[in-house]
Amino acid sequence: MNANAFPAYRGRMEYFCLGCGRRFGVDELHYTCPDCGGVFLLENLDFAELKKTPGAEWRALFDARAATKNTALRGVFRFYELMAPVLEPADVVYLGEGNTPIVEANETLAARIGARFAYKNDGQNPSASFKDRGMACAFSYLRALVRRHGWDQVLTVCASTGDTSAAAALYAAYVGDPIKSVVILPQGKVTPQQLAQPLGSGATVLEVPGVFDDCMKVVEHLADNYRVALLNSKNAWRILGQESYAFEIAQWYDWDLADACVFVPIGNAGNITAVMGGLLKLHDLGVISALPRVFGVQSHHADPVYRYYAVDDPKEREFKPVAVQPSVAQAAMIGNPVSFPRVRHFAERFEAVGGRSAFQVIQVTEQAIMDAMLTANRHGHIACTQGGECLAGLIRAKELGLVGENEHAVLDATAHSLKFIGFQDMYFRDAFPEGYGVAPKPELVNSLELIIGQDRKDALEPAAFTREAALAVAARLGLAAR
Ligand SMILES: *Cc1c(COP(=O)(O)O)cnc(C)c1O
Ligand SMILES: [Zn+2]
Repeated sequence: MNANAFPAYRGRMEYFCLGCGRRFGVDELHYTCPDCGGVFLLENLDFAELKKTPGAEWRALFDARAATKNTALRGVFRFYELMAPVLEPADVVYLGEGNTPIVEANETLAARIGARFAYKNDGQNPSASFKDRGMACAFSYLRALVRRHGWDQVLTVCASTGDTSAAAALYAAYVGDPIKSVVILPQGKVTPQQLAQPLGSGATVLEVPGVFDDCMKVVEHLADNYRVALLNSKNAWRILGQESYAFEIAQWYDWDLADACVFVPIGNAGNITAVMGGLLKLHDLGVISALPRVFGVQSHHADPVYRYYAVDDPKEREFKPVAVQPSVAQAAMIGNPVSFPRVRHFAERFEAVGGRSAFQVIQVTEQAIMDAMLTANRHGHIACTQGGECLAGLIRAKELGLVGENEHAVLDATAHSLKFIGFQDMYFRDAFPEGYGVAPKPELVNSLELIIGQDRKDALEPAAFTREAALAVAARLGLAAR
């Protein structure tokens, strides 16, 4: 067992359609099923081979690899055998994604929330969101295809609520020829930070009036009629890469997740799919012996998955897309999640192994999301609004009696707080448009204060100005003289 050596193991992977059950080889990039339009999962037909290695050996290998200096194994491919074991070392793209920190809530915050929890800061990925995990895998696979087919041009396209395009543009810029990136964004619905990212990476950035779902339709039309590589989360390679998030959580808790609850925001439902899929793989291999409980979280302004699971009797459940209302969890503001069939697929298996309470979906309000995000960040976290959504979900789950005293929660801070800082600003200035239904709580508001006027700066000598400014600060703070 050499933790620095690229694995010799190769699997046999196939696309498996959740719509019609047909299977397709991975020599081609399939976005959706050519027969029925359904979404794919990727399966390793030789997965059983991996089961011959005992769980303890896998744990030791992954632990040893955590210290590897082999670039191809430093990111999400630490778990190569479980993800995309058809790639060659030269295919692997590594931009520092994965291995993101898990930061425990301090005592004050844990006491205030009434639960022990930690944030896993996926905003500390290279483009500042978890989307990099999936892109690392998808671009590595694209490189393998380019190598195999000798393509001279590959146009990658994605629609985005912001972070997908930032990640796609970054990885495309790094890989370079023959891969070029095009991103399609809903006009005016992406934060300035998220817009700056693909522009800065040199992607072709195109705007379409409407919301994300409108952009998605344009992109799918392109996919049906032109030769393009689609990078939205229907792309099953992205789901594989995102499974690394689950593997890392298991590893951090020393492979013991018996008392863990994992909270994940749901938008297009790719991430929650990957988290459940990854955990099931670990369980299947005997790497973990108990599944944690997984909680999806949705805002009441975009909650189709919550509504589906709110119906108790599985036979009575019926999936209906919803019309979204404005949400601060903008990256999850999706009324018709493309990965919903995947959620249903894994939720069933999850419940079969872990029982009825193994997978649940929690609904939270816009107000609760903002209050939770600001509360977390005032205690040293860097949660984005979707991270706030997870904490709001934990608070709600506690209220509903769904989380026990001895349980520990891991919350997904899916992006860096700075990407969504405009919502903090609106909260502080009490400037939320009515549609959000958010009013600031005075104790969470912070604001800038000008301590001395420009007129004094103009009037005084520098030394006198410094003295007067310091005096004003001391007076404001009520400082006692020494
Ligand atoms: C994409 C995204 C989500 C939603 O993830 P899905 O996989 O679409 O459910 C949540 N938070 C952030 C920051 C995102 O970029
Ligand atoms: Zn099909």
